Amino acid sequence: MKKTLAIPLALLLMGSILSVVGANSYMNESSVALCMACGMKVTKSDPSTLTVSPSGQPDQYACCPVCALQVALYYKNAVVTGACISSGQKITFNVKDSTLVSVSPSTAQMLSGGSCAKNKLCYDETNAAALKTKLDWAAAVPVKTSTQVFDTAVTKFATATITPKPSLISLPSYALLGSGIFLLALAPVTWMYFSKREKQSV
Ligand SMILES: [Zn+2]
Repeated sequence: MKKTLAIPLALLLMGSILSVVGANSYMNESSVALCMACGMKVTKSDPSTLTVSPSGQPDQYACCPVCALQVALYYKNAVVTGACISSGQKITFNVKDSTLVSVSPSTAQMLSGGSCAKNKLCYDETNAAALKTKLDWAAAVPVKTSTQVFDTAVTKFATATITPKPSLISLPSYALLGSGIFLLALAPVTWMYFSKREKQSV
């Protein structure tokens, strides 16, 4: 094959492979985060994962309601969004000046199993009761109101060291994606260069 086509085509192929591999690993890595309070790795789309949206700053993620409210206390002003583990309904906590000003719905509760993984957010008493029968360890665990959950977070926050967590997207992902895009962009440039040279040599 002539150089005019062979080199640009090779660049296109290499560029496509690197871009796809890079984009894939970028997407895998961007779907997970570290709980900003306890450092546990969480999947952003997991129903147990809560999103903390501090005013004017990027979203952070937390593994359980107690962690999420500690993160909200760190920022002083933030909206915490989670889901009922039983029904999937949305639940939000609004923290202003380090005070819990509102919870939607106000009936929200939490099964308090004594660890992050066993702190389960529920839409209301009915969902909490349903979840208690569904989870074998939960039958006897206490249920806390949203105010009690916030108070627990305040107590824990007093002795906690909370720092913003870095993104989990690694340098190799950026490098793969970047070099893939670079090669893709280079392909037409080399094609133009070689076809110009070919014309001149005729
Ligand atoms: Zn956590």
